[in-house]
Order: sequence, then C-alpha cells, then structure tokens
Amino acid sequence: MSALHLDDRELASCVACGLCLPHCPTYRVTGEESASPRGRIAAIRAVQWEGHAVDDSFATFMELCVQCRACEVACPSSVPFGHLMEGARQALAEQGRAGTWWQRRAFAVLGHHRALLGLSTLGALAQRLHLLPKRLGLPQLPLRRPPLSGTGSDVYLFTGCAMDAWLRPAHVAAVKVLGLAGAGVALPGPGGDCCGALHTHAGFRDDAVRLAERVMASMPGNAPVLVDAAGCGAAMKDYGRLVGTPAAVAFSARVADVHEWLASRLDQLPPAPSGPRRRVAVQDPCHLRHVQKAHQAVRTVLGRYVDIAELDDDGLCCGAGGAYAALQPQMAAAVRDRKVAAIAATGSNLVASANPGCVLHLAGAGLDVRHPLEIVEEVVGGG
Ligand code: SF4
Ligand code: SF4
Repeated sequence: MSALHLDDRELASCVACGLCLPHCPTYRVTGEESASPRGRIAAIRAVQWEGHAVDDSFATFMELCVQCRACEVACPSSVPFGHLMEGARQALAEQGRAGTWWQRRAFAVLGHHRALLGLSTLGALAQRLHLLPKRLGLPQLPLRRPPLSGTGSDVYLFTGCAMDAWLRPAHVAAVKVLGLAGAGVALPGPGGDCCGALHTHAGFRDDAVRLAERVMASMPGNAPVLVDAAGCGAAMKDYGRLVGTPAAVAFSARVADVHEWLASRLDQLPPAPSGPRRRVAVQDPCHLRHVQKAHQAVRTVLGRYVDIAELDDDGLCCGAGGAYAALQPQMAAAVRDRKVAAIAATGSNLVASANPGCVLHLAGAGLDVRHPLEIVEEVVGGG
C-alpha cells in the first residue's frame, strides 16, 4: 500500500490489452484513452509507482469515471477496477480534492433521514413553483410519500436514504410482493437509512464505515436483509471488506437483492392472471449486473408476469452512477442518450429498473421507468 491506498498486486494485474475499452461508457462517448479503464489505470500507476502529482488533471481523469465496473466484467485478467478507483478517490478526498462544498453537504444530509425527507419535500415544492433550474434534469420529486410499515419478522427490507425519499412506492410494492410470497417484513431500526455507497464512491471512506456500522446495528439478528436498490445492495454485500470485522462479514452474508430472494421462491408467488401481458424493457443497473451479478433474478421474477424486452447494448451503463449525473451532467446525458436509443429500439414504452439512480436519471429523459416490483404488484395486486 502507498499514497493511493492501492494494493500493488491489484494495480499490476492490468496487461493493457484494451479488451475493456468497448465496454466503457465514457470511452464510448469520447474515444479518449484518458477516459478509458486502461488510461485511468495508467494514470493511477504514474502516481503510485512513478511519483507523479495528484493534480487537477489526475482528479479530472478519475472523476469522469462513472464507476459502473463494466470494465471488470470484460477484463480477462480480473483487474479489480472498483478497488483501484475507490483507492484513488480516497486519496483525492484526503487531499481535499473530492467534490464541491455542496456535494459534501449533500452527502452529510443522506445520513439524517428526517432532514433528507424535509429537504426533498421542499425541493418538490420548488419544482412545482418552477424555481429549480431545468438543466438539473430532475424528474418530478414526490410531494407526499405513501405510508410504509412492517408486516412481520421473516426478512428485513432495507429502506435507505434517496430510495425512501424519492421512490417510496417501490418499497410499498416490495413489502406487498414479499407478503404474497409468504414473508413478513421488518423495517430497519434507527440508523438504517444510508448504506454509505455514495460516500465510498466519492472517497469518503471513514464516513462510509461509520454509516455501515449504523446500518448493521439497525438490523440485528439472523433474518435475511433484502435490498431493492442495486447500488445499496452492492455496497452492503461489501461491508465485510469495507469494515473488515467478522461481524461485518457475517452481516454481508445475510444481504440479498430482493429479486434474488424472490427468484428462489417463485412457486410461492401467485400465477400470472390470464389475458394480455405487457411488454417491458429491462434496464440492468450496473451494480446489479456487473457487481452483484444478480440481474437475471429480475427477469425470473418479472418475466412471470410480463414479456421481457431485452436491450441490445450489452448492459452498457445509463450514466446515472449514484451522484455522477449531478456532478458530471454533460457526460451523464451523453451516456444516457445511448441507453435511451437502446430502449427505444425495443419498442416498449415501459422500462423496469431496480436502482433509484437509474430510475431517476432515465425518468429525467422523459421515459416511464418503474421498479420491477412495482410492475409485479400492479399485475398481481398487492392484496
Ligand atoms: S468503471 Fe465504468 S466508466 Fe469507469 S473505467 Fe470502468 S467501464 Fe469506464
Ligand atoms: S483492465 Fe483488463 S481488459 Fe482493460 S486493459 Fe487492463 S487487463 Fe485489459
């Protein structure tokens, strides 16, 4: 380990073959080596091994990465690019180069759920009064949220921060569908409101560890911890590595994406009603497909009730990337254009996505995007 918090063996594992380049959304947009995984690894090596400065140019190369990790899946040498980028971002954060002041403030609010709900409602009001600039590309924020309550203790449903503030109906649908599968659902206790994924991606590792410890304490016992937001699930499955304690390893082993859990109990779900079936385009969130590798479970559950329309883009990122769409709006929009074209080519006017960032980013382009379990609940009824 050295200045960039990187394992030299991991950094050395790239053989510069370039096979990852066509899978990188920022390389696809720019055609620039510096915006490719191989170029970013070369820049990281220059700092780690050759003593180059962590300067503005290095920060720009790193910040333009969406952290989608499509390059990991494409890489024949199994380069753990996510670790490398998180270490580089952590070094930038320690030098005060990570994010703007408002980004740091916004990240701080994520761990204070009541404040987040209040600010979100104020944002929704400002939107209705046309006080928020259109260039932010935000979809309509909710003025009200449906009530959400627990129904038992068989499983936990992690509710999170932005997901609960902006997409509460997805949680309500998840509780109903889990109920149809025979599971009583417990909600997290105090502190179970921000998983720390965005903090990890931005390099604020200490904050991420603190939030992870709160989340683990909010869901004691042995019940499975189900997650309906792909980015949160990926982060919580990695708590063992992030926090580095046996308790964190044990907690991570309890975490599953909600579709993974339902897919293994499909026969307990009601059959599809007779009659015509809707056709739904499925957008794979990167942290479900490339990190958790659980994207097929969405098709297993959703495909019981609707016809799936596959996108012909090999799972290319949509450009949401957690806070990326707010921080790099031009690149995020350029990446999104490709995803919107791939969705349009399916001919479907309804899109399923299991991650709040992707739902909001794609909805910002005018698409009708819903969580897969909202679509399931709509078909079978929540009872
Ligand atoms: S994580 Fe995504 S955006 Fe970043 S280098 Fe890899 S493929 Fe490109
Ligand atoms: S990250 Fe993997 S695929 Fe990309 S250039 Fe390096 S070895 Fe090749």
